[in-house]
Amino acid sequence: MNSHTPPQNQRSICPKCGYDQSGITDTWDDQCPMYGRCSECGLSFAWRDVFDPLLNDLYWYAEHARSNRAMIRRTPGTLVRLLNPIRFWNEVDVAKPIKLRRLAVWVLLTIITTHVLVSIPLGIGLWGRSTSSWGSLTILEYIDQYSLYGIAELTLDALFDPAMRTWISTRGGSGYSLRFQAGQRHLIYAILIKPIVFQVGFVMLWTTVLVAIPHTRRVTKVRAKHVIRAVLLSVLMLGLSFEFTRLIYGIMMWMGFYWNGFAVARIYRIVVPVLVLWQLIYWSSVISIGWRVQPWRLLVVLGTIAALLGGFALRVYVFLASTL
Ligand SMILES: [Zn+2]
Repeated sequence: MNSHTPPQNQRSICPKCGYDQSGITDTWDDQCPMYGRCSECGLSFAWRDVFDPLLNDLYWYAEHARSNRAMIRRTPGTLVRLLNPIRFWNEVDVAKPIKLRRLAVWVLLTIITTHVLVSIPLGIGLWGRSTSSWGSLTILEYIDQYSLYGIAELTLDALFDPAMRTWISTRGGSGYSLRFQAGQRHLIYAILIKPIVFQVGFVMLWTTVLVAIPHTRRVTKVRAKHVIRAVLLSVLMLGLSFEFTRLIYGIMMWMGFYWNGFAVARIYRIVVPVLVLWQLIYWSSVISIGWRVQPWRLLVVLGTIAALLGGFALRVYVFLASTL
C-alpha cells in the first residue's frame, strides 16, 4: 500500500461527475502522477484535490466557512462576488468542495436577515403614510397610548405589508385587540409579484432543463449536488431582488410618494431587466465556466431560450390571473 492511497472510508471520486477513480489509483505502484483526467466526463484535475478536497476551500466563501461566526463574516464578500457571476464561477468551480447544508442555512439566514433589515425603512414609510389617520400623535406617543399592541401592530405591518394589514381595535373602552386582514390584491400584485415573477419562471425553467431532461444530464455530466448549489444561489438572488423591491417601496413611502404607481413602475422598468440579465449571465456561467461543460454553447443557447419562454409564460399567466 503506497502513501498516496486515500483512507479506506473515503472513496476517491471525480469532483464533477462523481465517477469512482479507484480503478486508476489501484494501478499505481510506487509513484503517481500529479494530474489526472476523468475517463467519464473528461475533467482534468489535480489528484491532490481528489484525495483531500478540503485543500480547495475558498477563504472568502460563506459555504466553506467552518463556523457560524466565519459564515457571517464571509457574507458581504460572498454577496459582492455573486454580483459578477462570471468571476464567481471562475473561483467556485466544479472542483471546489460542496457543503449543501451550510449553503442552505446561509441562503435562508441571509434572506431572513435582509427581510428584517428592509422592514425598518418600510415600517417608517408606513408610519408616515398613516399619520394622517392618527392625527398629531408621534410614534412614541402612539406606542405610549397602545403599549404592546402599538409595537406589535407597527412590527407586523412592517414585516408583512402589503400582504397583510394589522390594526388595533377598541372593545367598548375595555382594552384593545389586534385585527388582521389580507392586503389589497392590486398592491400585492404590483409590489410583490410583478417585479419578480419573470425571474421565478426563468429559474424554474433552467432547473427543469438541467434536472428533468436526460439528454441535458448526459451532456453536463455533473453530480446532483452541483445543480442544487447553483439553484440555491440563484434563489438567493431571487429573494434579494424581492427584498430590493420592498426597499424601493418603503423608501418611496418614506419620501412621501406614498403609493405612486407611475413612479414605482418607472423604477421597475429598469430594475427588472437588470435582474433578468443577471440570471441569464449567471446560468450561462454556471455551465460554461463553473461546470466546464464541453461543448457548452448549444446547451446555453437552448437553455436560455427555454428559460426566457418560461419567464414570459409565467409573467403572462400571473397577469391574466390578476385581472380575473
Ligand atoms: Zn468525471
